[in-house]
Amino acid sequence: MINFLPLGGAGEIGASCFYLNIDGTGIILDCGMHPLKSGLDALPKFDLIKDSPVDYVLISHAHQDHLSALPFLVQRHPYVIIISTPQTRALAELTLHNSVSILKEQLSGEEQNGSPTKQIKIYSHEEIDLLIKSIEYKAYGVNFILKGYSHQSKIPIIATLIDAGHILGSAAILLEYNGKKIIYTGDIKLSSQAVTPGSAISSTKIDTLILETTYGSTDSSLIPNWNDEALRLALSINRVLISGGSVLIPVFSLGKMQEMITVVWNLIKAGKILLTDIYTGGIASKISRVYDYNRYVVNRIDPEFEISSIPVKNFYEVTQPEDFFKNPCIIFAASGMMIEGTASFKLAQQWLKHEHSAIFTVGFMEESTPGFRIARARHGDKIRLNDFSDESEVKCEINNFRFPSHSTREELLEIVKRVKPAKVVLVHGSQEAIDWIGAAILINFKEIKVFQAELGKEIILEKIEEQ
Ligand SMILES: [Zn+2]
Ligand SMILES: [Zn+2]
Repeated sequence: MINFLPLGGAGEIGASCFYLNIDGTGIILDCGMHPLKSGLDALPKFDLIKDSPVDYVLISHAHQDHLSALPFLVQRHPYVIIISTPQTRALAELTLHNSVSILKEQLSGEEQNGSPTKQIKIYSHEEIDLLIKSIEYKAYGVNFILKGYSHQSKIPIIATLIDAGHILGSAAILLEYNGKKIIYTGDIKLSSQAVTPGSAISSTKIDTLILETTYGSTDSSLIPNWNDEALRLALSINRVLISGGSVLIPVFSLGKMQEMITVVWNLIKAGKILLTDIYTGGIASKISRVYDYNRYVVNRIDPEFEISSIPVKNFYEVTQPEDFFKNPCIIFAASGMMIEGTASFKLAQQWLKHEHSAIFTVGFMEESTPGFRIARARHGDKIRLNDFSDESEVKCEINNFRFPSHSTREELLEIVKRVKPAKVVLVHGSQEAIDWIGAAILINFKEIKVFQAELGKEIILEKIEEQ
């Protein structure tokens, strides 16, 4: 029997976490934390598997919504074997240590008002060190065997990690058991970005595809060609710099930061953007170094190019916000969705007041975030950054650019076409996204059965007899 049970990331981009029971071996695919929730609400529903075998957890990549609940899983299942690519392991070390500090900050900030963070047992830096050491790392394309404590058959499960082209170390996970093949895409990007080449997923016939659907609700005609979009960004940045303004680009520290700073630096080198001060901050530079020391061991657009060689200043060293506006500059700051309390949220409040400056968004915004409200606003509008804040007038320019690190609708369908599955389970997307992709698969591939992952609802993928 192969059973599939979503513990999170079903019908939304949230705490991605899916449980597979393959003839008694319990495998968890990803263990994410909901980026916009706190306390127990942010964690996958681990209670759903409290009486089931939990032998392995395979992590597709180091983004928070796929990785950050791992310490909480280990609290419950100390003997679970954790597996990822070596790059994901290196990035996890940075992001999990960083999240210890963030959780502690949240806890002290919430002390007065019935803290949701208090519902969970916070872990220490020492526990993270132990957890990271325990991660078994497997390079792309290498087969390894999974066989749980209660495995009911002599046949083992063979697993392989496939380059997913999303961020450094990102992997789709292939599981083969008793003649059946399952691929979980994690977050996947078929075409290339500035640093990261597209996914290496090849054309092999499989039985079940567990497919992310982030861009399923986005009309691809709104997503321009990457290089055309880079040129449009260059023109817009130059216009702001020439008028004496500064540009704020909100990005995630992991992935989007490295891609966007490379896009801008390539344009500066090509003489398409004026040479000016570039600022970053937080863990971005440490992450860029992990990108750099892996540049010869993973696929890379230009292995000779080091992201860390781009001359940048640290925005945390600027104590007076007004200093950012004395000379034109470009700032890359996390978080990508300008979530309350983050650097990009604080900087955006300064930017909104400045006539000649601009906020340029470059990524996906969840509707409930300040980033979504800012991205939709235009010069002269009055906006509230959240439901409780005062209204402020938008004096700066706001413009939106698209540099996706996920597959477009057409690319998602191309993945389906390549692997010709008998069944597709749709995950990691809004209801609208899942509906669009589901309908498109049913129309284009009549023989494929489509399932929508629902939290806590088990799907029987295979009832197999031993061959
Ligand atoms: Zn991701
Ligand atoms: Zn994701």
